[in-house]
Amino acid sequence: MVDYVGTTRIAELLAHVGTASFMEALAGEIEVDFCRWHDFDKSPRHAAHSSVGVIELMPISDSKLYTFKYVNGHPKNTHDGLLTVTAFGILADVATGYPLLLSEMTYITALRTAAISALAAQKMARSNSRVMAMIGNGAQSEFQILAFHRMLRIREVRLFDTDKAATEKLLRNLSALKIPDLKIICSKSTAEAARGADIVTTVTADKRNALILTPEMVEPGMHLNAVGGDCPGKTELHIDILRRSDARIVVEYEPQARIEGEIQQLKTTELVIELTDVLCGTKAGRTSDHEVTIFDSVGFALNDFSALRYVYKLNREQSAGRALIDLVPLLNDPKNLWGGLTGTEKPHPAALVGKVPTKPIALV
Ligand code: NAD
Repeated sequence: MVDYVGTTRIAELLAHVGTASFMEALAGEIEVDFCRWHDFDKSPRHAAHSSVGVIELMPISDSKLYTFKYVNGHPKNTHDGLLTVTAFGILADVATGYPLLLSEMTYITALRTAAISALAAQKMARSNSRVMAMIGNGAQSEFQILAFHRMLRIREVRLFDTDKAATEKLLRNLSALKIPDLKIICSKSTAEAARGADIVTTVTADKRNALILTPEMVEPGMHLNAVGGDCPGKTELHIDILRRSDARIVVEYEPQARIEGEIQQLKTTELVIELTDVLCGTKAGRTSDHEVTIFDSVGFALNDFSALRYVYKLNREQSAGRALIDLVPLLNDPKNLWGGLTGTEKPHPAALVGKVPTKPIALV
């Protein structure tokens, strides 16, 4: 039997742990995995592009565990009442090839993206950073703000989205959380939100080389957390920001970032740093208070590996409500696959299916 974590179960697990605590703990798992970088069999993700979006497969493994995520990116979806990004994934045992966990990953993607953004910013942003501009107020935005509030002690967020309804939604959700030490400001433009901010997070969705941040908006010492540009021809930063003489660019996995990240705009001879080097301490995330640091995030399979393993562990620890599904036949005689299908082979006694009760989500 295979563990199953659906959208209801992940909400239940988050209610138990707390969303900000979950992201902080997951950031710890991601950091440990990035520091054993050479243990992993890595490759850029496989992308199937269409004129309206992309569907991607993201596999990775070490000697013990294998994971993959199926994820889409369709910026036009929200006009039809659908999410821009949805995902699910598998964690499997390398020794047998058997799947251990089938999980929803739409929520997990938002959680792990925010976790790695905040983890990178801990090493790259100025340590006295307290003000963040949040450009793009869609599905990912609450997660980003909660992670930065918890892990960087961000105390002021300035919100901007071209869709006023998205900002109103974000404001409503943040207000409901009643975070006493977080000042929330709605800005009239990206430039207004960014002015004087310590960190600018861009998490917009548009299938083009957008110019969300232009050079005059970027001030010395800023940290840019560029999350939304994650496909060929889909970027958020003006190239001159990347080419600033004082810019320091960090990516998750260079071969993939060269295809999908902001740095697709650069020549391959223009140097960038991989996050593993920053997390392991072999390279600095920032070398001066005046440097402009840029985390060019596209989402790498290792982020999902850490997340799936963490969710698998949490799900097993919270045995009440844990569900199992019959994804793989369980046979007394493994050679009698036909008997399993026709019912002549007795099923293995472990072939039970569980049920998940629902509980409200605790957000902080
Ligand atoms: P979403 O569609 O829910 O939200 C995107 C928001 O961006 C929308 O509210 C839209 O109105 C806004 N927007 C578009 N153009 C804008 C502009 N010029 N200025 C300000 N706001 C603008 O999407 P989402 O799920 O929040 O994802 C956002 C982006 O992040 C997507 O492009 C997605 O592919 C990417 N993403 C990246 C990672 C990663 O690991 N790097 C992970 C998840 C999502």
